Amino acid sequence: MKLINFSEVLVMGAGPAALCIVAELVEQGLNVTALASHTPDKPWPNTYGIWAEEVESLGLESLLGHRWSNTVSYFGDGIGRQGKNPTIHNFDYGLFDQNSLQQSLLKRCRNLSWNLETAEEIRVLGTETEVLCKSGKKYKARLVIDASGHRSRFIRRPDHGPVAEQAAYGVVGRFSSPPVSKDQFVLMDFRPNHLTEKEKCEPPSFLYAMDFGDDIFFAEETSLACSPPLSWNILRERLQRRLSSRGIEIKEILHEEHCLFPMNLPLPDRNQPLLAFGGAASMVHPASGYMVGALLRRAPALGAELALAMSVKPSLDSSALAKKGWEVLWSPELVNRHRLYQFGLRRLMSFKEDELRDFFATFFRLPRKDWSRFLANTLPLPKLILVMLKLFWIASWRVRRGMVFGIPSSSS
Ligand SMILES: Cc1cc2nc3c(=O)[nH]c(=O)nc-3n(C[C@H](O)[C@H](O)[C@H](O)COP(=O)(O)OP(=O)(O)OC[C@H]3O[C@@H](n4cnc5c(N)ncnc54)[C@H](O)[C@@H]3O)c2cc1C
Repeated sequence: MKLINFSEVLVMGAGPAALCIVAELVEQGLNVTALASHTPDKPWPNTYGIWAEEVESLGLESLLGHRWSNTVSYFGDGIGRQGKNPTIHNFDYGLFDQNSLQQSLLKRCRNLSWNLETAEEIRVLGTETEVLCKSGKKYKARLVIDASGHRSRFIRRPDHGPVAEQAAYGVVGRFSSPPVSKDQFVLMDFRPNHLTEKEKCEPPSFLYAMDFGDDIFFAEETSLACSPPLSWNILRERLQRRLSSRGIEIKEILHEEHCLFPMNLPLPDRNQPLLAFGGAASMVHPASGYMVGALLRRAPALGAELALAMSVKPSLDSSALAKKGWEVLWSPELVNRHRLYQFGLRRLMSFKEDELRDFFATFFRLPRKDWSRFLANTLPLPKLILVMLKLFWIASWRVRRGMVFGIPSSSS
């Protein structure tokens, strides 16, 4: 193995998590090596959505490629006027312009060049950590940060049994008639009237859809979290049936999105000598599946802590540095919030479609500042508990029972 270089921090990956943390570390003046299986300007395969308030609070709203003010969901049964009524969110939602987001992060990385490598093995040697790559090259750093995504094989985490995954199948394209109104964004359309009674007892899914303008729409059938996950075939078939029950046909497919990622990956072992960020660090919000806002919010504190630890204590070894990082990334406050969210998700996963519609209709009756901060994970723990109690208070008896005990599967 040929040793290529030694740096203070080595980051693995070139997705949003890697770019966010590399940008912070470089701005902190650290000597950083980055490596990934592809160049950092290769377009990311996913489109990233976010509530506009989250990007505004970061001063990054100019990075949105699309923004909708007409934002709604449907939690009725789809029958009669009442069942078709939307829940109006009155809250702007946006999609990042991927290229702008990527380029703005790369600019902050000050043109650091990524090594095109696939990491195969990581060895912690004490004061330093070695990354051995498929190419036969070896890199060394005081600290290695794994930002290689949700399926990292380098990060140790406890086994809590099967992991629930969010799955979705979506189409960007032209339709025989609009799947959503002009200039509209639909967060969740749970109307079930295209499903048979038997299908209503199967794991639920909803439509996530938006108008891109120029007669182009995105329509995606999404399963919030399920173990095993719903297959893309089932989701594709449900999307087609949902659309055709409204007399809509897909006329032209410009892009297909296949989405699958874990929602309740256990938190990593925070005593391991390797640090992680992003999907590898279980940073996906267990209630929503969103992560990009959290990456942008949480990277600065992590970067600052690592820079401080490296400069003040040059003797700290890889384990001690990783520990400092884990303490910031997963502080007791954030761990406790995460546990509450995971508890909530486990309960929701037992809900059938009508209970889920009832739950979400109640959730969005909370004051907007409560539900939006719940979804962004920006409520301090005591406030989060209060909001959950408020939700319990205004919920129907069956939702309350489900929130406490879950819904027994025999009720189907
Ligand atoms: C289809 C889809 C849609 C999503 N939509 C949203 C959304 O709208 N909003 C939101 O906030 N979140 C969304 N998410 C969730 C989450 O934000 C994404 O999964 C996000 O891409 C995770 O970022 P990441 O950087 O941790 O991992 P990834 O984006 O998976 O990037 C991992 C990087 O590591 C590299 N890599 C992997 N293994 C190695 C290795 N051994 N050696 C070197 N490099 C390696 C890869 O090449 C890649 O560059 C979505 C997820 C998916 C799958």
